[in-house]
Amino acid sequence: MENIPVSEIINELGEDRERYFNAVAPPIFQTSNFAFESVSDFRKALKDEASAFLYSRGNNPSLAILQKKLAALSHAEACLVLNSGAGAIFVSVLANVKSGDHIISVENPYSWAKKMFDNVLPRFGITTTYVDGRDMTEFKKSIRPNTTLIYLESPNSWTFYLQDLKAVADLAKQHHIVTICDNSYCTPLYQKPIDLGIDITLQSATKYINGHSDVVAGVLCGTKAMMGKIFISEYMNLGIGTTPFNAWLMVRGLRTLQVRMERVSQNAAKVVEFLKTRNEVESVSFPMDKDFPQKELVQKQMTGGGGLLSFVLKTKDFNQIESFCNGLNHILMAVSWGGHESLIIPAISSISPDEFHPENPEHRRLRLYIGLEDPDYLTEDLKTGLSKMSY
Ligand SMILES: *Cc1c(COP(=O)(O)O)cnc(C)c1O
Repeated sequence: MENIPVSEIINELGEDRERYFNAVAPPIFQTSNFAFESVSDFRKALKDEASAFLYSRGNNPSLAILQKKLAALSHAEACLVLNSGAGAIFVSVLANVKSGDHIISVENPYSWAKKMFDNVLPRFGITTTYVDGRDMTEFKKSIRPNTTLIYLESPNSWTFYLQDLKAVADLAKQHHIVTICDNSYCTPLYQKPIDLGIDITLQSATKYINGHSDVVAGVLCGTKAMMGKIFISEYMNLGIGTTPFNAWLMVRGLRTLQVRMERVSQNAAKVVEFLKTRNEVESVSFPMDKDFPQKELVQKQMTGGGGLLSFVLKTKDFNQIESFCNGLNHILMAVSWGGHESLIIPAISSISPDEFHPENPEHRRLRLYIGLEDPDYLTEDLKTGLSKMSY
């Protein structure tokens, strides 16, 4: 793919300003359908809807601007922007399996990917094997004659385990297996799975791409043929494209993607250093940390981290973990990440006190997203929370 500078992609690519009064911000094309001057033009659009503006369940100019930018950022030929990241996962998988097929997925993928593999696909005779993605031999030994898809998420958004994307892509190519990688953690700024040979890369655009906690959306990137195949079938059938207004908000969010990523990366590194000085903290997981176990692979395939990290508290007391979280004044307790605001999720929010195993560090893990705030403001808040854990 042609290498277009990131600043040009973010500020110019896909925008046709002369066509709308040289407005710097593009208009929102809030229309359901598009009219034609002649029967022959109409016929052409009906025959090849993927290349036409015909009806906004398919293409719309507000989406087209965003799609061009996101494809270029990912070094992909084409892009689709959908109503959610979960929807992007669903249609990309659905488009590449049929009854009787077998999927290999990295273990503990994003929760709704796992629910699709465990609950939806078995109804159609499609089975999934989960593997520890840190170990290439696990992929090799799980391939069966009917394996058609390998599903990856690198790093994942909780423990940040990585898979060697190039090695998995090379293996999959030998067996004519399609590969999909959830790239929400890195965004295309910090990791380009397509360059490593992965067929489809996806993100939850709810996170960094939009970046302001006001849109739910998903991105798929791949070849023109692959995106065209998904468009003309699953995408159009489900009516799962994002809206013109949300596409417009995402173009606006993208304008600041680079500076936001830089700031959250710097902030997260400072918070990691702070957490490592605290006695209450048993361990910290952050891919850009010098002590991260898969550091070499990080250096090989990622160029940055971002604001997501997790840590394990030492206390074996369920109530102390609750007191820490309840004691925070500024860091919000909420799902999601990638916006302006720092967020925390304790693993104990998914279990009841009688299910808590104090010896299991995963039960004592907390996922922290570091936003754009002043880093001292965040470390002070963490200090306040830690001070509420009375010993
Ligand atoms: C949030 C998330 C998704 C799902 O995206 P939605 O936009 O919430 O549907 C997928 N993968 C990862 C890693 C996520 O964090």
